[in-house]
Amino acid sequence: MSIAEGLASIQNAIPSNVTLVAVSKTKPLEAIQEAYALGLRDFGENRAVELVEKAKALPDDIRWHAIGHLQRNKASLVAPISSLIHSVDSIRLYDELSKHSGEKLDVLIQIHIADEQNKHGFYPDDFKKILDAGDDLHSPNIKIRGLMGMATFTDNHSQITNEFKGLRTLFNEISPTMGLDFDTLSMGMSGDWKIAIDEGSTLIRVGSAIFGSRN
Ligand SMILES: *Cc1c(COP(=O)(O)O)cnc(C)c1O
Repeated sequence: MSIAEGLASIQNAIPSNVTLVAVSKTKPLEAIQEAYALGLRDFGENRAVELVEKAKALPDDIRWHAIGHLQRNKASLVAPISSLIHSVDSIRLYDELSKHSGEKLDVLIQIHIADEQNKHGFYPDDFKKILDAGDDLHSPNIKIRGLMGMATFTDNHSQITNEFKGLRTLFNEISPTMGLDFDTLSMGMSGDWKIAIDEGSTLIRVGSAIFGSRN
């Protein structure tokens, strides 16, 4: 399938309130330019250096999404060029980003919903405790726009459904205390974006279903 076909099949299937972020990690500039020429403006990268290099080389009106685990020593590189950082997974990273965020930085809090040790993020109960304690996450430079989560890599449909449901439930539960800009629920990738949308995703991060598999 070509990039145009991959894109069209997703764009035709998603509701208008869902944002499609094309995950271009490991893919060359030409692939991004091809999707850009087709009208796409939201691109996702998971490595800081690759994100910086691509942002430098490509048009300024691209909205870059930093989607992967971000090391604190890369915060100063990524914050100024990202339109949304999806992967705030510790208070320490949040605090570091606040030092480099300029006027206002939009971020998502990554929540650990998968039945896997190697995925990053706050556990739901831990995050609720942090909010209840009220001591952290108050930088005037950072706006928490919502939550992000990755489901377990599995064929088990009902497990994926339950994990996304859990994230949606947490989102609904905390959103009254998070303000009007708390409007983004980033969940769903190539293998599970349909399930994610059924469970209330507002933003899907899709790589291989658009650009083909990564080496
Ligand atoms: C790579 C990646 C994606 C996209 O994965 P595909 O399965 O290729 O769609 C989405 N989100 C994150 C955080 C990723 O690292």
